[in-house]
Amino acid sequence: MAEKQCPKCKMMIDKDATKCPHCRSTVGTSKSTWVVLCGIIFIVFLLWVGSSSQTDDKVILKDFFYHCMDTMPKNEGPLFCTQSALGRKFKFDDVEAILKQYVAEHPEQTKKKKTKPL
Ligand SMILES: [Zn+2]
Repeated sequence: MAEKQCPKCKMMIDKDATKCPHCRSTVGTSKSTWVVLCGIIFIVFLLWVGSSSQTDDKVILKDFFYHCMDTMPKNEGPLFCTQSALGRKFKFDDVEAILKQYVAEHPEQTKKKKTKPL
């Protein structure tokens, strides 16, 4: 059986023991605690990676969409940019949200006018 030294009384105790049988002090962390801890860290890591990549997608989509709208004639922009964003595998919900955001931020540019004021 593997053993370790108790940090308080320096006696050799079981490697997996959480309490020293000699001095009753708590010794390190048990294997199961480490497994649970690693599991939690792993899950948090996965959630973090998931949420950050989702944010990146939306940032990329926003950059793409806003740039697209800037380069398109105003009356063709929303349809063309929505379609090309969807063609680039962006999520429909995200594209729709970005379009709404753009319209909200640029109300004068997205009015459905057939003629341009000169
Ligand atoms: Zn001890």
